[in-house]
Amino acid sequence: MGMFDTIHVKKPLICPVCGAEEFSLQTKHFDSCMAHFKIGSVLSGSPVLIGIIKESLWCDACHKAGRQSADSSVYLIVWHSLLTAVEQDFANAEARLAAVDRLDLIAWLDEAQREAARWARNYHRLFSDVSRWHEHLMRPPEPELTGAEAERHRALRRIFSLPDEILTAPDPLAAILAANKQASGDVED
Ligand SMILES: [Zn+2]
Repeated sequence: MGMFDTIHVKKPLICPVCGAEEFSLQTKHFDSCMAHFKIGSVLSGSPVLIGIIKESLWCDACHKAGRQSADSSVYLIVWHSLLTAVEQDFANAEARLAAVDRLDLIAWLDEAQREAARWARNYHRLFSDVSRWHEHLMRPPEPELTGAEAERHRALRRIFSLPDEILTAPDPLAAILAANKQASGDVED
């Protein structure tokens, strides 16, 4: 099986044979480089700038049950290389193509900027944690401090170092990865 791209939809596509809901479909109409697209994505490699591309629905449930998969069409609506809608009915597809307006554009732009900001935050957090872990490993042995000096030193470390639960974890790097994975998961959607 060759390469393809995946399109994700929020409103499920319904298999006409078994009624199963599909939230994604694979297509080879574009660059086929394992890209993920959703409504509002720029379809890199799209041969169609404005129009409707016919694709077919793949039903996982039917496939697993050994049923003959329905030969069911899905229409990708493309407007200025943007994926603007995915419809199973051609008349709906035509109507969606005719109805794209600037409010749609603003909503997609807004979502794209939020997503870019989210990835930037995720990246900076991970980079900061790994940098601090590297600094921790490179730090020369500290002199024994006592009294107020030791307290000041601890306070500084609390601000600039990784939290103790990471530094004292059996595998600090795994703890950093887990914390970042959770943080990036928390902000999804
Ligand atoms: Zn099915």
